[in-house]
Amino acid sequence: MDFELTDEHRALQQMVRDFCRKEIVPVAATDEKAHHFQRELISKMGQLGFFGCPIPEKYGGNGMGYVAHAIVCEEVAKVSGSLRAAFNMQTMLTARTILKFGTEQQRQTLIPRLVQAELLGCFCITEPNAGSDAASLKTMAIKKGDHYILNGSKTWITYATVADLGVFFAYTDTSKRHKGISAFLVDMHSPGISTKLIEDKLGWHACPTGEVILEDVAVPKENLLQEEGFGFPIMMIDLDGSRLTAAAGALGVCQAFLDESIKYANQREQFGQKIGEFQMVQDMIARMVVETEAARLLVYRCADQKDHGKENNTLETSIAKYYACDAASRLADLALLIHGAYGYSGEYPVERYLRDAKLYQLLEGSANIQKLIIAQDALGYRKANR
Ligand SMILES: Cc1cc2nc3c(=O)[nH]c(=O)nc-3n(C[C@H](O)[C@H](O)[C@H](O)COP(=O)(O)OP(=O)(O)OC[C@H]3O[C@@H](n4cnc5c(N)ncnc54)[C@H](O)[C@@H]3O)c2cc1C
Repeated sequence: MDFELTDEHRALQQMVRDFCRKEIVPVAATDEKAHHFQRELISKMGQLGFFGCPIPEKYGGNGMGYVAHAIVCEEVAKVSGSLRAAFNMQTMLTARTILKFGTEQQRQTLIPRLVQAELLGCFCITEPNAGSDAASLKTMAIKKGDHYILNGSKTWITYATVADLGVFFAYTDTSKRHKGISAFLVDMHSPGISTKLIEDKLGWHACPTGEVILEDVAVPKENLLQEEGFGFPIMMIDLDGSRLTAAAGALGVCQAFLDESIKYANQREQFGQKIGEFQMVQDMIARMVVETEAARLLVYRCADQKDHGKENNTLETSIAKYYACDAASRLADLALLIHGAYGYSGEYPVERYLRDAKLYQLLEGSANIQKLIIAQDALGYRKANR
């Protein structure tokens, strides 16, 4: 499949590249070292419409679609993994969730503010003992009059400490296993919510990750998304969106490794010649080119299908997510080898990109979980999206 971007897509790509060069590149490395989350940059990205591609104009988006969303994610991830996170927090896991499952009033009041980044969002599945096995979560929501009372704890939550609004998953009926999970919109400034930053992590230092503790948090019953017991399907449909975003981010970091490696191979000399002239270095560059192109086709095929009405293309989304995210780690190894000792130093960006790359294999469903979906579909055990 040969994927051609439209003129409109190319103009968007150029606009985002210009923004990245002017606004993100000058601060990305220093913010990462200083563990500094730039709220202002997220606001600027919101005002420029970066978070509004899959959101209709009626709700403050630009309606450009999923390919446009992937383009913007790829470009931002090329320069900062930390800032790429916003595309799930503002768009796929909050605004899009409300678009699909919220009431008309929630759509009108909340989506434009998320897309503009006036409000920051978060999405809360993971708990200390519930990672890949999301149905083993322990957070409870008990109905009391006009409210649900939420108790429990979430961990590894992106934007936990800065978010204004969260999508939370909790059991309303534990006897039904995953069919007893419900999803709620929660005001993060509600009494009973406390958060704690997770400071000790490998990368994404300019993006806050944390724990959320819920102690008798009263959530109005109108904030239940759809009906009780509908939480698990909401989670799966949300992940079909956020996995595309992660895959596009991984593609961005693949391209960054390739660009940096070409530049370095053309400037570093050993044994009286550019290292790019050694065939073994050319082997590595060739592998990086092919893997990046393969990831790009899979990511854009997935986004294009979503633009053509196949939004819940779980199989193609998992294929794109698995391949692009694994490729990012393979390219990290190759880029580090090409850069030698300098790749190991903070002087060149590949060490930061390497830390970005590692995360893509863990987030939004690990590599193994994507392989389970792909293999079970191939074996006929699970018909993902036929
Ligand atoms: C920086 C960061 C930000 C995050 N942000 C969020 C967020 O905003 N919201 C949120 O809810 N979560 C978030 N997460 C959590 C993330 O989604 C989880 O890490 C992910 O779901 C995997 O869970 P786990 O890490 O507990 O791994 P586990 O589920 O414990 O898995 C450990 C290993 O076992 C393997 N494994 C597990 N089950 C199977 C199986 N059935 N078959 C084969 N292998 C299996 C996994 O593939 C993995 O290799 C974040 C994590 C990080 C690191």
